[in-house]
Amino acid sequence: MRIDKLLSNIGYGSRKEVKKILKNGNVTVNGTIVKDAKCHVDPVADSVFLFGEQVHYREFIYLMMNKPAGVISATEDEKDKTVIDLLNDEEAVFNPFPVGRLDKDTEGLLLLTNDGKLSHQLLSPKKNVPKTYFAVINSSVTEDDINAFARGVTLDDGYETKPGKLKILKSDTYSDIELTITEGKFHQVKRMFEAVGKKVVYLKRISMGPIELDETLENGHYRELTEEEVQQLK
Ligand code: URA
Repeated sequence: MRIDKLLSNIGYGSRKEVKKILKNGNVTVNGTIVKDAKCHVDPVADSVFLFGEQVHYREFIYLMMNKPAGVISATEDEKDKTVIDLLNDEEAVFNPFPVGRLDKDTEGLLLLTNDGKLSHQLLSPKKNVPKTYFAVINSSVTEDDINAFARGVTLDDGYETKPGKLKILKSDTYSDIELTITEGKFHQVKRMFEAVGKKVVYLKRISMGPIELDETLENGHYRELTEEEVQQLK
């Protein structure tokens, strides 16, 4: 693979920008400065250094983030901080994007990747990927709600949801619940509770398909998925 393509692919800039970096003598291959953008390298066998740091070639990156409230799950936003702003350069160079969306005030599991195919699979309505949320509700959640969600409820726009699995962890003046749904309509969990006359006051996603939020991740922190987790997703 051409050295300029390799560096550009992993996010060190456009081919033109990378050419300039090469021209300035900032890249070595197996210890020798390489200035020629056409130079061919083996991304696995050759040892490439850029600005003195070893470059590890790979195409895809897979991250799990514990998204904090107040941050937008998008790659860009005019006024608010995005989940991409929380990444270090080391990961940001791969240009990952969030797999689907969580509301600004929702916390918890957000996958980020630059693997468009995997993202598409996880979000495809045909795949019915289950997503589980922990929520605090502003009133008592009952057996009737479990049954209503199991049948599917009608949202404010007339949409009939697919069945959802509701588990009551605590039912009181405020209730703690877990809800598993296989769809991803706009504000779906909040709107499902509105459909039964209740309000979500706190929402956190705790799993998506086979991936569970790593509870050791503090709000706003992230880690790479393990090889095993990536395989489970595919
Ligand atoms: N459902 C919601 O209402 N909000 C989210 O962020 C995710 C699911």
